[in-house]
Amino acid sequence: MIRTDWTARHARYTPDAPALVWAPTGRIYTYADLHQQGEKLAHQLHTQHDLEPGDRIGILAENSVEHMQLFVAAQKAGFVLVPLNYRLTASELQYLVDDSAPSVLFFGDAQAETARTLDHSFDGRPLHDVSALIDDTPAPIQRPDASPTLDDPLMILYTSGTTGRPKGAIISHGMLFWNAVNTEMRLDLTSADRSFNAAPFYHTGGWNVLLTPFLLHGATTHLYPDFDADTLLRDCDTEDYTILWGVPTMLKLMSDSAVFDEVTLDTIRYAIVGGEAMPEPLIRTWQAKGVPIRQGFGMTEVGVNCFSLPARDALRKIGSIGFPNFYIDTKVVDDVGAEVPPNTTGELLMRGPVVTPGYWQDAGATAEAIDADGWFHTGDLVEVDEEGYFFVVGRKKEMYISGGENVYPAEIEAVLHEHEGVEEAAVVGVPDDQWGEVGAAFVSGTQLDADALRAHCTTHLARYKVPKYIEIRDALPKGHSGKIQKTALQEQFSAAAQT
Ligand code: ATP
Ligand code: MG
Repeated sequence: MIRTDWTARHARYTPDAPALVWAPTGRIYTYADLHQQGEKLAHQLHTQHDLEPGDRIGILAENSVEHMQLFVAAQKAGFVLVPLNYRLTASELQYLVDDSAPSVLFFGDAQAETARTLDHSFDGRPLHDVSALIDDTPAPIQRPDASPTLDDPLMILYTSGTTGRPKGAIISHGMLFWNAVNTEMRLDLTSADRSFNAAPFYHTGGWNVLLTPFLLHGATTHLYPDFDADTLLRDCDTEDYTILWGVPTMLKLMSDSAVFDEVTLDTIRYAIVGGEAMPEPLIRTWQAKGVPIRQGFGMTEVGVNCFSLPARDALRKIGSIGFPNFYIDTKVVDDVGAEVPPNTTGELLMRGPVVTPGYWQDAGATAEAIDADGWFHTGDLVEVDEEGYFFVVGRKKEMYISGGENVYPAEIEAVLHEHEGVEEAAVVGVPDDQWGEVGAAFVSGTQLDADALRAHCTTHLARYKVPKYIEIRDALPKGHSGKIQKTALQEQFSAAAQT
């Protein structure tokens, strides 16, 4: 029964060490600051808002220092944070609010109007009330009598909604702790590391990739309200960041920017990338700049640095996600649950202290995802080579069968990405009278020609994998974490086919 309050510990050992820097102003929050602010906030939320351990706190705002202050308060007092995606429409948000039922909702200035339209019995508060609560706190402080343990919930994070409605994954204190331990072991973090978080707090990456591992380790994180490629590139040089991270879309925006050639990035040890497959040409662009790419892999439900590719293998095993992290068990199984031999596609299962206890108030979905032996069924298809390196083949839901053959869109997308001028590529299975299903490819980029793309696919892929339809678009529809929304493409394709 170990307590989860990391900031309290750092506040003793290294009170003056900077924990957080608010990037827009450069204001520094030391470990002592965060600790004291968290104590006061926990007290006020309890006494003024009647919050008890387990009660939910909704946050509808761009990244802010208040998120961090609420996080520390929640770690101390057992409240459960529900960071909500402010890019959603009011009706999408209504669903999440009904699902998570927060007692209080803090909202940013830009989200005030949306927040007020939400129909729920929570106490709606502007985000700056967080600072007011901290400032107004009289001594002595009385926190709720709670010592959250590793098994208690700390957050509800909704999945990206790539394959359907977002699901509320319960994130326990322990998941965050073990992810931080896994991260620091595999990524060789030290308290001298400096990095940033520019990914939204409503996704697992915002909390888990570096921020909480850094916090556990006593290092410094610069926090940005949101992502801006040019600002971040310049800050890498001026702030001497040592690790860079993002989803492939972020790294693409950065390397496409004119600023990319102006900066040296010479303090960066490596970049961690995850969330979706990083196209090989993009890996090479960054490698050529002197930034080794460490391909990572994870998901909201299994937080989130589950795999990583050692830097020495970045080129030799290009495209691989490497090995499972330290405290995580994996196996790769076929449809009847038997483990598959090397170089054979199977579903990835994961088990260990980084796996979610379940989906918020959804016992059915939980039972479907986590089996009796504690294995989480990821729905992701992988292959392991003879040397034990893992490769993501695609998602189970995305695989389609053409003339009796299994086709994995990710393989075709990788081939399309090798064609000059291709920036985005997505392949989905669509119904076909002759073959059952065939591929429809959607591609964007510069100076593209469908016949040339088809010829390229024919050279590099077996015939049944060559997409029957190739459509060139200005851009592809993206979800809120920058992933291409294949369900939307599939729907658009069938709508067009019916007219
Ligand atoms: P939903 O579960 O709502 O459909 P989602 O699965 O996209 O959405 P996240 O939890 O944000 O939501 O994303 C995790 C998924 O992202 C993984 O299950 C996997 O499919 C994909 N992914 C993550 N990292 C990689 C990677 N390096 N290569 C390929 N796919 C990846
Ligand atoms: Mg998922």
